[in-house]
Amino acid sequence: MPTQILKAYKIRLYPNAEQQVFFAKSFGCSRFIWNKMLADKIDHYKATKTTLNNTPAQYKKEFEWLKEVDSLALANVQQNLRAAYSKFFKQGSGFPKFKKKGQRDSYTTNNQKGTVAITKNTVKLPKIGHINAKLPDKINGLIKSATISRKPSGRYYVSLLVETVIEPLSKTHSNIGIDLGLTDFIVLSDGTRVANPKFLSKLQDKLSREQKILAKRREVAKTDQRKLSDSKNYQKQKLKVAKVYEKITNARKDFLHKLSFSLIKNHDVIAIEDLNVKGMVKNRKLAKAISDSSWSSFTTMLAYKSEWYGKTLVKIDRWFPSSKTCSGCGHLLTKAEWPLSVRSWNCPSCLQENDRDLNASINILNQGLLLAKQSKTVGATGLA
Ligand SMILES: [Zn+2]
Repeated sequence: MPTQILKAYKIRLYPNAEQQVFFAKSFGCSRFIWNKMLADKIDHYKATKTTLNNTPAQYKKEFEWLKEVDSLALANVQQNLRAAYSKFFKQGSGFPKFKKKGQRDSYTTNNQKGTVAITKNTVKLPKIGHINAKLPDKINGLIKSATISRKPSGRYYVSLLVETVIEPLSKTHSNIGIDLGLTDFIVLSDGTRVANPKFLSKLQDKLSREQKILAKRREVAKTDQRKLSDSKNYQKQKLKVAKVYEKITNARKDFLHKLSFSLIKNHDVIAIEDLNVKGMVKNRKLAKAISDSSWSSFTTMLAYKSEWYGKTLVKIDRWFPSSKTCSGCGHLLTKAEWPLSVRSWNCPSCLQENDRDLNASINILNQGLLLAKQSKTVGATGLA
């Protein structure tokens, strides 16, 4: 059965000078109303121990310039603030934070009967009209909302949320286990190793080189007793670092999208380990942290794409001993037998030689198939 989904399209915008001013105002007003409403809520709570239900409209009399921007942008701030509060109370997330200038400049608006639309090379937005844009080949379906953002690199993007109908992918009668590799990005139970793309590691090297230069320029400004905001060389380099960083983020996302889609397309059941990435990212080096956060985005993509396309994703408990079990005979290595930091080991029970990552991915697949069978969510995938 076809499924209706909300798909996000990230599109580069090329606003002219006037449009850039409008965006800057919109970012500023969104940030202002967030901070103002949050501060008032906090004060109100301190005074009365009750929650203040404030709305952007209340502030428009006192701060007339709020009327110059898209009122939906402000309405979305109210909604986001409400969501942040509910997350804090219901899910134990952190308390909503104040927003600083230049950090995540963005605002969101909604499509009301064509107020947000696209042409071949423009995106139309409320109150500002058509902005030059670089659009992907085809966007089909109803546009629901648009989030406009300005990155530290100075580039503008719009993320369009589009109602799209997708058809499930046909069954392949093939299943796969995925292990997060030690040196490769992932290792599959069929023996395939997917390396981290070379261009990504090249870009990462470039990033750390540029960051070193940035640190030096910071030192120079300090020695000369100049403010960083007055140091042209420092600002120039800061922009350069932001551009490389953005390039890495985009390239990495692209790589993960292609990889996750190809796995979903070629297999019916996909088994992965449910790793505690939050704990992993702490106390790690940059490269490792990037790979860990890749893993987190990757599993998120696998999760929603498997739902979109009618496939099954099984997450294995992170305490499942995928690395310490022989995939040949099921022997569980004892502490004494467990070879630390060894790429391959011979099973003391059946003597099979096990590559560390491949063996783990096979165990993940077997465990995944077992769980999938138990939950009976895979009746038609040929697991019987
Ligand atoms: Zn064995």
